[in-house]
Amino acid sequence: MLSFEHRYATLPEPLWVASQATPVERPELVAFNAPLAHELGAQDIPEATTLAEWFSGNQLLPGAKPGALGYAGHQFGNFVPQLGDGRALLLGEVVDQHGKRRDVQLKGSGRTPFSRGGDGRSPLGPVLREYLVSEYMAAVGIPTTRALAAVTTGERVVRQLPEPGAVFTRVASSHIRVGTFQFIAARQDEAALKALADHVIERHYPDAASAEDPYLALLEAVVARQAELIARWLSVGFIHGVMNTDNCSIAGETIDYGPCAFMEQFDPQKVYSSIDQGRRYAFANQPAIAQWNLARFAETLLPLIQGEGDALVEKATDAIRYFDTLFSAQQRQLHADKLGLDAGSDQAETLMEGLESQMHQGRMDMTATFDALTQYAASSGDNHHEALLALTENPDGLGEWLSQWQAAQVASQNADRLTAMQRTNPIVIPRNHRVQEAINAAYEGDFAPFHTLLAVVTRPFDDSVEARRLAAPATENEQVLRTFCGT
Ligand code: AMP
Ligand code: MG
Repeated sequence: MLSFEHRYATLPEPLWVASQATPVERPELVAFNAPLAHELGAQDIPEATTLAEWFSGNQLLPGAKPGALGYAGHQFGNFVPQLGDGRALLLGEVVDQHGKRRDVQLKGSGRTPFSRGGDGRSPLGPVLREYLVSEYMAAVGIPTTRALAAVTTGERVVRQLPEPGAVFTRVASSHIRVGTFQFIAARQDEAALKALADHVIERHYPDAASAEDPYLALLEAVVARQAELIARWLSVGFIHGVMNTDNCSIAGETIDYGPCAFMEQFDPQKVYSSIDQGRRYAFANQPAIAQWNLARFAETLLPLIQGEGDALVEKATDAIRYFDTLFSAQQRQLHADKLGLDAGSDQAETLMEGLESQMHQGRMDMTATFDALTQYAASSGDNHHEALLALTENPDGLGEWLSQWQAAQVASQNADRLTAMQRTNPIVIPRNHRVQEAINAAYEGDFAPFHTLLAVVTRPFDDSVEARRLAAPATENEQVLRTFCGT
């Protein structure tokens, strides 16, 4: 079905280690992403029973060569020199219809040489969560790994309680992480480091090859992609939850959807993950954490970047500092688009600060607020004014802000302001309580809520009765305040 190639497997041993899936009892297909399969070059898609055999790992997909990838990582700031794919297998790479090389990986397919104490398995809940959230990110245009398939195994995996098991098939530009570089750097294997860096340049950043200092250019390019990515996350209220260096993609995609969540009531210090006790990965900390992760990446590249001593460190430090400039520029543009204003002046920034403070003080739902502003702009006011004021606990403050914003909109030179707002203010996010509801139903054998939610979140700008129902913020009773890794 897919034409596999195996470039990554030619890299030195600990980066790629041959490994096999452990068969499961009764694989059943839950979801298959046919449009993505076509994008990957699949012509005929076989029937569900065959897909279930392939995407559970029970049968090897023709041409696949399964292997686990080695990587290290800073987890909550502590360095672990060897993590690696403990429950995932790279099947190989596919060159897609746009000529882009992409990895296809099974996750939850059994133990590997990197499993440590783990069972190599995945419960169904996190599989459905990753399917919904990663496909949502793709639909709003945020760089992300994709969901190709979800299969239940007919087996139980034991976490706090026994849960149904599942295997997820993930498609990524690559699975190379900051932690992959740390893994090789910690082993002080300069030849392997160079081979890895060259692979990354050829695959993701071909322009760096012809730069004066290719490995510095590589660092700068990765910094730029991460800066753009994190600005995009913040624009939709996304909180990754586990921004460890092993979950930081060199290709600049969102990767490893664990206890991630979308912020509902606006609060810069918001944390959902049950394991993030120190609030290290709080909403507004994400740019600083990404920059910290990139500094760890820069350290691994020092042996390859030209120069030495203080001058070398200075060069790398400048590249990391440049994150701030790139992030701010990207965020300014997104703020202006979300408010339908010009990015050129400081006015959009001032108004965004004002709105954020209104949303925070008035306990406003972030997505509903921007959606209501977009509708307001589309209809030139009236009943939408009331709808907006109903979102806040502080209508006086918001009312005042609204008149400033309206005045700015009238004065703005931005003729495309409405399309900019419609493009950056999705109606729907995968709300925590809706994701949980879909998972709970699936645990009872009913996958209909999952499919309904998936259909809505993958068309996040489309208005419909169903979209409005699933877009509505949680009531006090429905709120999900904690999310779990569930690995
Ligand atoms: P994650 O939290 O998914 O980023 O995983 C962190 C590390 O733990 C990675 O090296 C995973 O491969 C490993 N890991 C997580 N869950 C399991 C599991 N059930 N069995 C084996 N390894 C696991
Ligand atoms: Mg991970």
